[in-house]
Amino acid sequence: MHTTPLGPIDVPREFPAVVPYARTTVRLHPRAGAPTSDQSSIGGPLLWPADEPWPTCDGPSADDHYRDGPGEPEAPLVPVAQLLVEDVPELPFPDGMDVLQVLWCPFDHEPFDVPRPQLRWRRRADIGASRSQMPVPDVESDPRRVPKPCVIDPERVIEYPAHDLPRSVWLQIGEAVQRVKRATGWDYEADLAVAPGIKVGGYPGWTQAPQWPQCTCGITMEHVLTVASWEFDRRDAQRWIPAEDRPAMADWGWETPDDHPWRDLQSPTGLMLGDAGGIYLFVCTTCPTRPIDYRFDCG
Ligand SMILES: [Zn+2]
Ligand SMILES: [Zn+2]
Repeated sequence: MHTTPLGPIDVPREFPAVVPYARTTVRLHPRAGAPTSDQSSIGGPLLWPADEPWPTCDGPSADDHYRDGPGEPEAPLVPVAQLLVEDVPELPFPDGMDVLQVLWCPFDHEPFDVPRPQLRWRRRADIGASRSQMPVPDVESDPRRVPKPCVIDPERVIEYPAHDLPRSVWLQIGEAVQRVKRATGWDYEADLAVAPGIKVGGYPGWTQAPQWPQCTCGITMEHVLTVASWEFDRRDAQRWIPAEDRPAMADWGWETPDDHPWRDLQSPTGLMLGDAGGIYLFVCTTCPTRPIDYRFDCG
């Protein structure tokens, strides 16, 4: 169980102008574990039809993969997430589908110099015999681009936008933000707005200006998944560390030795995307082919 404390600030009362922008995000709270292929996971084994080829990538250009050249084997994609409808029904599953799988090529790709993700929507009843083992990642791939197997514990949290909040609304709440911060030490942007870490839906965990992708059909795509390097940063500590983890976090700090439990709570996947950045996955739920796009940023 992982519980994000509400804190002392009643956001709708203090900042009524942000209420129309409230969204629910599902914090997945990945933690090191041994998920099986019939469970939801981050970095765990996927339910993959035994007779379906595993996707590989050789990079669009010779510079994309380390030491990639003629005759080099293509790199197998690595499992990033598997989410079952019973754990995260908020995902925009196409009709009848009940599993979302996310994989990526663990090499850096243009245009963001991070892994390039792919999505699969599946119906478990159609899978039949499934692969018993996942492919071994390419020996040249950076282990910090291959998430360690984690079980998940979904928690719903109300978010309000920060980078995505219209300027006109910032102007309306500006004075109240200053007043609340002075009086309580709670900061709208750091503590009350957007949840950090790996999560489904809600607002992307942007650390820079938003860059929502447009589908070719003209609509703005929907945010489905943020894959963040870290579950929380120092500025997130007041609000976003789950209550159940706080005892183990005692005395944490960047100088604390590596064997302190905080490191496994703060970065359970072992991912490092750019400078502790995040990859944000988007899907068009209007087009029948469910086109996807992704973005990356870091602080
Ligand atoms: Zn690749
Ligand atoms: Zn579309």
